Amino acid sequence: MESWRNWSGKLHAEPREILRPASEDAVVAEIARAHDAGASVRCVGAAHSHAPLAVTDGHLLDMEAFAGVAVADRDRRIVTVGAGTRLYQLGVPLRAEGLGLVNMGDINRQAIAGVIATGTHGTGETLKNFSSAVVGLRIALADGPVVECDAEHDGELFQAARLGLGSVGVVLSANLAVREAYRLREGIWLEDLDSVLARTTEFGAAHRHFEFFWFPGRAKAVCKHIDETQDPPEYPMREGARVGWSFEVLPSHRPDKHTEMEYSVPAERGPACFAELRDLLTRDFPDFTWPLEYRTVAADDVWLSMAHGRSTVTISVHQDVGLDDEPVFRACEEVFLRHEGRPHWGKVHYLGGDTLAERYPQWHDWWRVRDAYDPTGLFLNEAMAALRP
Ligand SMILES: Cc1cc2nc3c(=O)[nH]c(=O)nc-3n(C[C@H](O)[C@H](O)[C@H](O)COP(=O)(O)OP(=O)(O)OC[C@H]3O[C@@H](n4cnc5c(N)ncnc54)[C@H](O)[C@@H]3O)c2cc1C
Repeated sequence: MESWRNWSGKLHAEPREILRPASEDAVVAEIARAHDAGASVRCVGAAHSHAPLAVTDGHLLDMEAFAGVAVADRDRRIVTVGAGTRLYQLGVPLRAEGLGLVNMGDINRQAIAGVIATGTHGTGETLKNFSSAVVGLRIALADGPVVECDAEHDGELFQAARLGLGSVGVVLSANLAVREAYRLREGIWLEDLDSVLARTTEFGAAHRHFEFFWFPGRAKAVCKHIDETQDPPEYPMREGARVGWSFEVLPSHRPDKHTEMEYSVPAERGPACFAELRDLLTRDFPDFTWPLEYRTVAADDVWLSMAHGRSTVTISVHQDVGLDDEPVFRACEEVFLRHEGRPHWGKVHYLGGDTLAERYPQWHDWWRVRDAYDPTGLFLNEAMAALRP
């Protein structure tokens, strides 16, 4: 039996089978076979989630063979991306078409279906998350058919599946809204944390991308801004001062294995929430050294988006994978919840379905539609089934 581990190594599973379908027909056949065998079906992208979304004792579908990108509509700047395509596989072919992703997160190792399924985001007050860029999906459903859905056709299925937590069907490809190719310039500076917290609105408005990291125990935060430039790329690139195409400047290298909790709070509560976390860590966890990260995300209308209906600040807390993360994460979660926080779907949280329902206004809509398309729960693993209303 082949076992499975996520990126950090902290999560592991013994799926009944790990399957690597290479065609749509093979996916449809696997769904039917799992159904007949009484096994559940979960997909995995690049296994970068810290939440047990891909943990299953059923059939695990690795969708890596579904890779590639093609321009679907040049005028509207829409591209079709295979579900298993890694983000790092998109930059060069999109650039060759004069196109680029609107935004990216900290890294580029994930699969497109994985980032969509969890609402993965970057930073930028005017910039939405990956799920919001999806304008159409091709998806294999529980009872067999492969369907195309978008806001006009099967609109509720589209809403549920564009941030689907791997639980609505097997995404085969996604149509993404992109923009013209663009270049960026990155800059970093150090500033006292108190000063940064007083000026986040100013910095957020002044830069296309603004974020900062703070290492507990330090007085200063490491601030980063990235802005559009007409300047040519500068090779070789110097981390922290890169000038280049968007896909060269937005993602960074994150080799140190960690686990992570991240919450999204209303933008106006970001600085106060961060200050409370600083005080908590300084007082109760004096040995805690991993950085906190502060970013912004624009509001959207995706049912399960962390930024649903509100301008958002995201704050992440990281812990070394070899150390116990639970005491510090639980303490931080209390602070996040006091600030109307919503957990990142791909990261650690300890909330049950009832609390999630209070925080995600369309939680029940999402389950209603998910259940209508998959009444037997074929696409639910144990962790998701436990959240079912
Ligand atoms: C080092 C690191 C950096 C990160 N940086 C960021 C960041 O900057 N911003 C941010 O928001 N998050 C970030 N994350 C979190 C990460 O982006 C999400 O957890 C994301 O979901 C991982 O993508 P993946 O391809 O690894 O998906 P997986 O973890 O493999 O899967 C995630 C979900 O997608 C589903 N899925 C995958 N493929 C399909 C498919 N074909 N059909 C249906 N469902 C599918 C899975 O079932 C699962 O539910 C980071 C994580 C790590 C480890």
